[in-house]
Amino acid sequence: MLILTKISHLETFLSQKRSQGSIIGFVPTMGALHEGHISLIKASKNVTDVTVCSIFVNPTQFNDKKDLERYPKTPEKDVMMLEKAGCDAVFMPDAEEIYPEIDERRFDFGYLDKILEGAHRPGHFNGVAQVVSILFNLVKPDKAFFGQKDYQQVMIIKALVKQLHYPIEIVPCPILREKDGLAMSSRNTLLTPDERKAASLIPIVMNEVNELSRKGTEIPELKKHIEERLKDPIYKIDYFAVCDADTLKELNSFSEAKYHVALIACFVGKIRLIDNIILH
Ligand code: AMP
Repeated sequence: MLILTKISHLETFLSQKRSQGSIIGFVPTMGALHEGHISLIKASKNVTDVTVCSIFVNPTQFNDKKDLERYPKTPEKDVMMLEKAGCDAVFMPDAEEIYPEIDERRFDFGYLDKILEGAHRPGHFNGVAQVVSILFNLVKPDKAFFGQKDYQQVMIIKALVKQLHYPIEIVPCPILREKDGLAMSSRNTLLTPDERKAASLIPIVMNEVNELSRKGTEIPELKKHIEERLKDPIYKIDYFAVCDADTLKELNSFSEAKYHVALIACFVGKIRLIDNIILH
């Protein structure tokens, strides 16, 4: 596996591959890799000839400076995991390489960037759009792979591709979970043992929401259920919403949409975790 830190080296590698007719797959990450990330690498390897992963903790998408400072970094382990998964190249640039100047661009995704994560993390999706558009310009992949753990992000990326006319197929990939159901996340490593135990209640209550909705429980009651189940002070719910799975419009009643997704953001101690479940 090639380890690239400079744009010029990345471009040399990619133009050589492209001249051989290779289909390029791309997996952007912020590192501190886990099996969830590796599942994206595998998904790419299944349908492309060359898989490129990027590792870049993008400062412009962090609205909370402390969150950026404590974001976990495990570059040696990341490289080993990618190598083992059969990734072809990893691009690990520093911030000056990606942002030689301050990125002043402002994106507008309408409703989509003003709700849920957009409402609770101001500027987050603008930062995501900045870095992903830069990485797309550099890698020019045929296909790019994103996890549905970040459900709203996948929709933002699809909107970005449409807005900027990128000839890139966005491939959403399923959420990988720990044995107890907790969605894998780099941030899980920041939890204390007690918080880690407490965090496992999140997927449990999300499954309860699914069960209750199947039995006909309506959305306001589901919200009450979540509040009741996560009332211990170790939890602080940032939001819980049931949305149209296609548009992400927030719903008050299941009758307002055909397909439904429940999404949650919840602090466990100081660490903010997100999860979602398609209801059926
Ligand atoms: P991150 O490093 O957190 O920015 O994530 C990089 C990519 O991995 C994003 O597309 C995430 O949605 C995806 N990802 C993160 N956690 C998981 C997971 N548990 N299962 C599947 N994909 C994931």
